[in-house]
Amino acid sequence: MKRDAMEFDFVIVGAGPAGLSTAIRLAQLGQQSHTPLNICVLEKGESVGAHILSGAVLDPIALNELIPDWRERNPPQFTSVTQDEFIYLTEKKCYRLPTPPQMHNKNNFIISLGQWCRWLATYAEQLGVNIFPSFPATEILYDAGKVIGVATGDKGRDKNGEPTANFQPGIELYARQTIFAEGCRGSLSAEVMRQFNLRANCSPQTYGLGIKELWEIPDNQYQPGHVFHSIGWPLKNDTYGGSFVYHLDKNLLAIGFVVGLDYKNPWLNPYHTFQQFKTHPRIFPLLEKGRRLEYGARSLNEGGFQSIPELHFPGGVLVGCAAGFLNVAKIKGIHNAMKSGMLAAENIFNGKKGERCTQFSTAVKNSSIWKELYHARNIRPAMSWGLFPGLIYSAIDTYLFRGNAPWTFKNHADHTQLKKADVSKQFETIKSDNRITFDLMSSVYLTHSKHEENQPCHLKLRDPNVPITVNLKEYAAPEQRYCPAGVYEIVFDENKNPHLHMHATNCIHCKACDIKDPTQNIIWTPPEGGCGPGYSRM
Ligand SMILES: Cc1cc2nc3c(=O)[nH]c(=O)nc-3n(C[C@H](O)[C@H](O)[C@H](O)COP(=O)(O)OP(=O)(O)OC[C@H]3O[C@@H](n4cnc5c(N)ncnc54)[C@H](O)[C@@H]3O)c2cc1C
Ligand code: SF4
Repeated sequence: MKRDAMEFDFVIVGAGPAGLSTAIRLAQLGQQSHTPLNICVLEKGESVGAHILSGAVLDPIALNELIPDWRERNPPQFTSVTQDEFIYLTEKKCYRLPTPPQMHNKNNFIISLGQWCRWLATYAEQLGVNIFPSFPATEILYDAGKVIGVATGDKGRDKNGEPTANFQPGIELYARQTIFAEGCRGSLSAEVMRQFNLRANCSPQTYGLGIKELWEIPDNQYQPGHVFHSIGWPLKNDTYGGSFVYHLDKNLLAIGFVVGLDYKNPWLNPYHTFQQFKTHPRIFPLLEKGRRLEYGARSLNEGGFQSIPELHFPGGVLVGCAAGFLNVAKIKGIHNAMKSGMLAAENIFNGKKGERCTQFSTAVKNSSIWKELYHARNIRPAMSWGLFPGLIYSAIDTYLFRGNAPWTFKNHADHTQLKKADVSKQFETIKSDNRITFDLMSSVYLTHSKHEENQPCHLKLRDPNVPITVNLKEYAAPEQRYCPAGVYEIVFDENKNPHLHMHATNCIHCKACDIKDPTQNIIWTPPEGGCGPGYSRM
């Protein structure tokens, strides 16, 4: 069946803060110059925000610039930060550390990013932007080596890829300029980077995996605006990561743990690390009489300045975390995602079909994004020396060199970092109490994840033998532990031969498998539109 085609001025892939800010700024520019524009935003989630997971403390710098009167436009809840704490944890104790200047949150707000994206989407629609949830972009359309748009995925194919009675072919969306705003580890963003060799002059991107829960806690534990970050326990000092605990509005608590995906021990289980963290004497009382409402996970960029690829290619640009603008020292990416979207809009507004808008890269280099990422560039790589050497170096880099040290450390790809299982120490297993700590499947239930069972598996294996011959044999199948949704399971047949079984319907689109698989054998692709997690306030 032939695919329908639609023509737009701009097609934006992803309705996160980057994509929506691009759309809003384009629409504003169109209105200011009386140029009617046809702008479309594609979103793979069933609704805007359904696949969005963040902390989130918002630095409103870009929001103030994009929508100066946002406070009068009935925005979702936001809670002013009242207190910042930065803590080093041991198993039983906690020690307050000076809050690094990048982590100061004066004038910042605690928000639910999913809710804010829904609000941004409504605002964009009021400006005439077309937003299409449940439409994942699955294919890039090229003409004579230039990007001319994207196609959305088919619906209604069975497990073998054959059309069922409900088959609906994807749609081709053509544009003057195509903007990839897929967030961290976007699948089409990866293709466009490969196609145009955009990573030729940068370090590999590196990542963390953030696992988060939303809790309702009693009045006597609730401190609106309190921001808490910790490093140390339960992680060993050779593994980068830490927690975040944010007191939002209405007795809600966002609590999460980020583990650097450059971890070396294949026995590490980030989900268990997070569950264990919640049992710390400093954290337990917060949750003891509370109620868990939501659970989810998402990877985030940690590579920073030296991992930013070329941002433009013939026919489009990369914005937000698809390009890697998160500032890991600040633990913030929303402001840069929004600002990069706005700069993209301003610099592609007059872009012709298939044109390379090189001025966008120049604009980013002259912007606040570049400056803040440059100053923070050595902090994350130094952490790979271990927690204490990394902290000491960070203090020197920040206070002595003020981010201007005459060197730049390189990043190394996360999938190359695993040691073999037989030379790595196993961790104690954590028993769940179903009050503070939970088994994985009851957590997955709270993601409201759904996938049409009878569809082609969206997790592709380059070589179906590698999960056993390499992953199981050498690394004790680490995908069984790093996947925060229990998708990967080694099962044994009647002859006791091991096989990898994928519970693909559990997938919450965090992208950790695409990043961490030691031989890069797992390829994450978007499933049918609307499938995946159904977050409401993450
Ligand atoms: C655990 C965690 C905590 C964080 N804490 C903070 C914080 O406190 N403060 C802060 O500023 N930042 C924080 N960040 C980072 C912040 O969330 C990101 O920097 C920001 O969300 C990036 O915005 P984006 O629009 O580039 O990508 P995203 O927010 O990831 O949005 C991308 C959107 O594109 C959609 N999409 C992806 N691929 C496709 C496709 N092929 N077709 C259609 N749609 C697609 C996705 O479903 C999603 O809706 C945190 C991140 C994590 C994971
Ligand atoms: S299968 Fe991959 S993308 Fe899906 S939840 Fe597991 S690790 Fe994340």
